[in-house]
Formats: sequence, C-alpha cells, structure tokens
Amino acid sequence: MKRPNVILISIDTLRADHLSCYGYKRPITPNIDRLAGEGALFTNAYSTAVWTPPAHASMLTGLYPCQHGVVHQNKLRSDIPTVAEHLQRNGYHTAGFVNNSQVGNLVGLNRGHDDFYEVWQGFSKNQIFKRMANKARQFSGSSDHGASETNNLIFRWLKGGWNREKPFYLFIHYIDAHNPLKAPRPFRFKYLTKKMRSQIDMAKIQKVADNPLVCFTDGLELTETEIHALTCLYDEEINYLDYKIGELVDHLKKRNLLEDSLLILTADHGEHLGEHGMYSHVASLYEPIVHIPLILRYPAVVKPETVSHQPVQHIDIFPTILESTDLDKRNSATGTGRSLFKSLEKNAVARTLFAEWEGRIPHFVRDRLNDKNGERIEQKFTNKLWMSRTSDYKLIADSRDQFELYNTKNDPDEQMNLCEKEPTKFTKLRTALESWRDSTTREQTSESYDYSEETLKKHLKALGYL
Ligand SMILES: [Zn+2]
Repeated sequence: MKRPNVILISIDTLRADHLSCYGYKRPITPNIDRLAGEGALFTNAYSTAVWTPPAHASMLTGLYPCQHGVVHQNKLRSDIPTVAEHLQRNGYHTAGFVNNSQVGNLVGLNRGHDDFYEVWQGFSKNQIFKRMANKARQFSGSSDHGASETNNLIFRWLKGGWNREKPFYLFIHYIDAHNPLKAPRPFRFKYLTKKMRSQIDMAKIQKVADNPLVCFTDGLELTETEIHALTCLYDEEINYLDYKIGELVDHLKKRNLLEDSLLILTADHGEHLGEHGMYSHVASLYEPIVHIPLILRYPAVVKPETVSHQPVQHIDIFPTILESTDLDKRNSATGTGRSLFKSLEKNAVARTLFAEWEGRIPHFVRDRLNDKNGERIEQKFTNKLWMSRTSDYKLIADSRDQFELYNTKNDPDEQMNLCEKEPTKFTKLRTALESWRDSTTREQTSESYDYSEETLKKHLKALGYL
C-alpha cells in the first residue's frame, strides 16, 4: 500500500466536552464533528500532562513526561527521537506550523522538520505590507491569534513548498482557544450577547479572559453568571477555530489530499472554567483539563462513524503514525504507547492511563509571589499531582500523600471522593500508579532552556499574560 500523507493537528487548550461530537449542547464545532463522523472518535482520550511543552512532547515522542523530561524548562533530550525525525529519515517531506514558542525550537520540538514555521513570531521587519494589514485587522477587531496565517502558510507550502516526490507530514498547532479569549469578528460576541454584557462587569470578565491566572494572583472570584460569560468567550474562539479547521479540510479535499491521508486531531490539554474553583490549565488533574478530544480519520483502515471507548493517550499518537507509514517496527519500541489502530480492535485489552502535574509555577504567577497570598499560591502550584485511571475510575495522588478517587461515569463532576467507600478500587489504582512511577521515573538530564528577555516578553504578550 502507498504510504499515506500524515496530518497531525493539535488544538491548544481544547477541552473535549466543548465539542458537539463529545455531547456539548451548543453546536459550535460542525466541521470537527464532520471529521469525527468520517473516522473514529475516542471518547476516553487523556492528556499526559496539563500544559503545553510536556503534552506536545508526549504526542511527538510517544513517551510520558517523566520519560521525555520536557518538564519545567527542560528541552527535549537529543537522544529521544521525534516522530518527524523518523518520517524525515524514511523519505517524508516534513513541515511544522506552530503558534507558541513552547512547541518549537526553544524546546527542541522542531527537530525532524524540513520546514518549520513559528507563526507566533509574527511578520518580519521586511514584511511591511503584511504588518500594516495586520495592524488594520487588529484595529477593526478582525485579527485572530494565528489561525488565518497558519492556514495561509500551509496552503502556500502545499502549492510551492512540498516536494511532490515524497509523501508529506504536517504538524499543525493552533492556539486560538488559549487565552486571551478574543475571537475575531463576526465570531466575537456571537454567544456573549449585548444583553448579557450589559448585565455583568465586562472589565472583570475581559481581565480573566485575557489571563485566567489573575484569579489566583489577584484573588478574583467569579459568580455563576460571570463564569457563563467567560465560557461564552471560550466557545466563540472554539467556534472560530472550527471554522478554520473547515477551511483547512476543504482545501485538502479540493486538492485531493485528504482521502489517502492519515489525519489525527487532538488537543494538548483542556481548560478549567471555574470547576473546583480552578481556572486556566494548572495545578489540577480534574477532567476539564485532562480529558481531550481525539479523532482519527484514515478511510483506508478506519470506518466512518466509529466510536471507541477504549482509554487512549497522547503517547498513542506516535506508534499510530509509525504503524500507518509502515516504518521499521523497531522504532515503535522507543515509545510506551499503543497504536490507536490496536485500540480499535475488537479484543483490545483495556489499559490504565497515567498523567502528571509537575509542580511548576508559571512565569506570570512567580513574578507576583511577594504579596500576602504568595505562600498559599506557591504551595498550590508546587504540589505535584499524578493520575491513574481506567475508563470509569480515576485516582489523583499528590506529593503530600493525599488521594482522591472518583467514579467519573456516575460522578463526572468529581464531587464524591470514594477512597474510603471503595477500598478495592482505591488499592488497585494506587498500586498501578506506584508501579508506573517506579518503572518510568528516570533522572532528568536534559539541558534547560532560557528565554531571552525579548523572547519571553513576546511570548507572554502573544499568550495574553502581559
Ligand atoms: Zn497548551
């Protein structure tokens, strides 16, 4: 069989339960829903980590964060191969399009790409007309956080950049669902209507939508109505991104590049919108940030309308791509994941999944630790967390030896801690977690990266933290 083109789409900060195909009541994702209907939808897909660098490193290497070491400010170790390196070595033309410094060169996740575009950097000084047009779009409220430019670059690459003698691998990272939440017109205020805006403190909502970490540093508390307003702004960004995904898919279809391709769509992590008093994607392993969408479209192998409830994870993406491209099976041995095709088999054995929060303090929070809440916030962020879960039960353990056990099927909001009520389940998941930690923890030897003052400023500004 001819080797397929491979398209891996990662949507930053997209929680699964905000997609209509995952049961969300507001129909905001018609294009992603269509993709899911044309392939397989994994209802139990989970992040390995809940922030950008470790989660992406898991997708691209097939390893858990404690194995690939891309935690805190550590780069990917040079002895760990990326999926792009495998494909490049095996005759693929590889290209990456990313909208965050932490998915690129800074962290070493650009490795193996023949062409790599850090879209978040904006336009160079020589691109005067583009810069002027962008300023005009910003002024009129029609500029986005990179999705349009990303699509333009992809379309241009497919037209003139791609060496057609080779199959291609595209790694596409969109960031528009990440704060600052300010969708371009006409998506802005599509759900947060004028009437609703007149009834709330919009300055407060926009402050949180720009940077939800202010809820921790400034001790902001949101009412139910305010959380609803914030959710509307999040949904507007998702609805816009869905529109851009539709544009990308239409383009691929028009060029007859989709039918023979393997397409995977997922997210690095979700987003808290007030659940458990939490905002952003930090210091938690609750469902809003670990449960992610995962869609596999590959008409040659996967039937339309396939739905799988098998527990799957970021680490499964790497072996899936290697299997579909028929690369040397020995390559798969570097990862600990299982190919998604295997999870689709009738007799697939259900696995236990794992995730971790490494106990880091984000730059924005660290810079504000001197106030009266400093010590409490520091403790909250530096408390490490680990998750082990099956499709129904989930255990969260922390570095202070506290445990929470939930039946996520009966109690999706994770309100009733069952540690004492269900000791057998508790012991089983605790033992699984301990043996996973014993077998995977290795010394962190990777080189750490440091932002230059200028890069850090640009990066934080692009993400709404400045
Ligand atoms: Zn992210």
